[in-house]
Amino acid sequence: MAGFTHLFIPGPTNIPEQVRQAMNLPMEDMRAASFPTLTLPLFEDIKRVFKNETGRVFIYPSSGTGAWEAAMTNVLSPGDKVLMSRFGQFSHLWVDMAERLGFEVDVIDCEWGTGVPLDLYAEKLRADKAHRIKAVFCTQNETATGVASDVAGCRAALDATNHPALLFVDGVSSIGSIDFRQEEWGVDCAVSGSQKGFMLPAGLGFLSVSQKALAASRVATHRHCYFSFEDMIRTNDAGYFPYTPATQLLRGLRASLDLIAEEGLENIFARHHRLAEGVRKAVDAWGLKLCAKAPQWHSDTVSAILVPEGIDSANVVKRAYSAYQTSLGGGLNKVAGKVFRIGHLGWLNEVMVLASLSAAEMALLDCGVRLAPGSGVAAAIEHFRRTAEMPVAKAA
Ligand SMILES: *Cc1c(COP(=O)(O)O)cnc(C)c1O
Repeated sequence: MAGFTHLFIPGPTNIPEQVRQAMNLPMEDMRAASFPTLTLPLFEDIKRVFKNETGRVFIYPSSGTGAWEAAMTNVLSPGDKVLMSRFGQFSHLWVDMAERLGFEVDVIDCEWGTGVPLDLYAEKLRADKAHRIKAVFCTQNETATGVASDVAGCRAALDATNHPALLFVDGVSSIGSIDFRQEEWGVDCAVSGSQKGFMLPAGLGFLSVSQKALAASRVATHRHCYFSFEDMIRTNDAGYFPYTPATQLLRGLRASLDLIAEEGLENIFARHHRLAEGVRKAVDAWGLKLCAKAPQWHSDTVSAILVPEGIDSANVVKRAYSAYQTSLGGGLNKVAGKVFRIGHLGWLNEVMVLASLSAAEMALLDCGVRLAPGSGVAAAIEHFRRTAEMPVAKAA
């Protein structure tokens, strides 16, 4: 088929040409004397994206899930009690991993479409006078439902009771796209991955840790090997890795960190918010609803859109792909068949968002959803024009 195939899933995301080209190079020697000139600045610069000032970032050759496991198996001990909440496929999988790794998980099940229940967290922490809870978990952006949660609120709940538990955050689909401040919010383990806001292929798992998490890792007793902090620290400090690093992805990471620095994190957050608002205006105009139950939960990186009763959202996704060369995200687990998702994160602009909305409109219409053709696109256009920087009128 002619023309581009369009990718609007919430990861992997579109890769900037500079990043793609930076990865097209001959294989290099990861033990060369010059290799640290690539890696040492990477370790420093990636900390800025997490706003981690005093800790460090581990870069694993894994997907984000590996960094989840690295965090839990280095910092905690078998049987440790942890407080988690579950409200979508990704928070569900994190709970599942914690259970399978042998932690005592106190899990709060929330309605899908809502996020981390701060009041219940505060209540559990207040009741835990003996400080048995060793870590509190927060999925900052639940990618399955398009729900953003309040990380600073988790910190406030811990501080309000002077509770010493560590704070773990899954920021795989938020860090680098939505406001995140590790140092200020006292986040001890922040997990991300390469294929979402970092605009790279999958293959790097990022784990940004505080000094408090590093101290905990020195006395924690859970078994680990491949993900060992100790092995990583020993080699990373000299600019090397304990095993073969994904050298091309590291070259790509150099390019993506440069692009992020050039645009500036605050500008990136503002761009994501503006593009997401365009999508939300379109959803309104279609007469449809988001899976996210209220504006406080709206995600600026992914929108999960409920289809009307009697329509199978999987057909909408299939139709968009087969007829219009456009990948939209499907519904996962409890919301399978009920929602389709538009990923609007990473390397993206207004016209790309409008393309995603056009494809979604056509597919929705083809699947029998009644909406006025062009209505969503028109609403987004109006929003983008109203919020665009206008050319300065020339003085007469
Ligand atoms: C994508 C994603 C993950 C899983 O990351 P992988 O790179 O697929 O292992 C975890 N959490 C969230 C919130 C995600 O969006």
